[in-house]
Amino acid sequence: MTETALAAKLKARIRCDGPMSVADYVAACLYDPEHGYYRRRAAIGAAGDFVTAPEISQVFGEIIGLWSAVVWEQMGSPSRFNLVELGPGRGTLMRDALRAARVVPGFRAALAVHLVDSNATLRAVQAETLADAGVPLTFHEDINVLGSAQHVPEGPTLVIANEFLDALPISQLIYSAGAWHTRLVALDEERGAFSYQPGSERAPEPSALPTDRAPRDGDILETCASHAAVAYVLARRAALAPFAALFIDYGHAATGFGDTLQGVAGQSHVSPFHAPAETDLSAQVDFQQFADACCGVGLVVDGPVPQAEFLGRLGIVERASRLMSANPERAAEIEASVLRLIAPTGMGSRFLAIGVRSPSGATLPGLER
Ligand code: SAH
Repeated sequence: MTETALAAKLKARIRCDGPMSVADYVAACLYDPEHGYYRRRAAIGAAGDFVTAPEISQVFGEIIGLWSAVVWEQMGSPSRFNLVELGPGRGTLMRDALRAARVVPGFRAALAVHLVDSNATLRAVQAETLADAGVPLTFHEDINVLGSAQHVPEGPTLVIANEFLDALPISQLIYSAGAWHTRLVALDEERGAFSYQPGSERAPEPSALPTDRAPRDGDILETCASHAAVAYVLARRAALAPFAALFIDYGHAATGFGDTLQGVAGQSHVSPFHAPAETDLSAQVDFQQFADACCGVGLVVDGPVPQAEFLGRLGIVERASRLMSANPERAAEIEASVLRLIAPTGMGSRFLAIGVRSPSGATLPGLER
């Protein structure tokens, strides 16, 4: 195992303060001000640690751009419209979305685009990718800007986010001796390595449990306080004006038992303890818990539906065919990349799309259950 500067720092912290929660460990790996993975690395894309849907095919962003224009029309084609992207990565999705949405008269003229990303390196990449976008761009670091009209002006707002929720730190509980305990990251001094252990105190009874069976010893349950915080900030935005949001991510529609925390480095899966701060850590999104958090603050949820179904309903196959006819020399590559997004045994079913909106709004297109 590679001993990174952050690994040394976390081991010293455990020696001094005792084991830390999985949530604290993940938060340190991702957001440590000095070393955190999402503070400095630009790890997305073919040469990075992982490849996301907008990096696989331009059609993904194009479809979301056209979808955004339809939502704008549903809201009455307002003359000013905030389009906010959470965790835009390299800015590829937004670039493709804005290009495709040129065909909808009035939409681009209404737009103020806001990009929220905690990673300064990626914010610079986004500025470069979108330099010729021809719409006003504002960059933000923290999602809390959405909650007030000071940073993102009042007015109809649409939020889009691909692979954002999976990046937020999860907590884990482990069932042992008839009760739930916080799962901790400890130090195995003999091996000098991180290891898991259950906390000695009983944790409070979790608010969401799988309904298919009772917990057994060793079962793990994941929760995400940050998802509840996202729901809260969306509700504050929805209190200001008509509001809708689209989240696409990998995960499951119903709460289940299991450890889904994973490390990814150089496009391979590694232990979450591998090279802290140089490994991307993410977990499957529990869409049931996220939906419950949104409903709990007065928002309405549409979906989730599998990515293949969402993109299929919005005409991804037709769009890909047109693009293939217009670019015969790239036809094979276009087809292969689009098939990857909708593969029934791959991204098409492992990724889900969910809509969140003001109760007064219409059901979001493509997300009817
Ligand atoms: N949406 C992009 C990138 C996904 S990776 C794509 O599909 O390619 C996750 C993105 O979220 C990265 O850009 C990362 O810097 C950003 N991010 C992670 N945690 C964040 C947080 N708490 N607040 C804002 N942005 C965050």
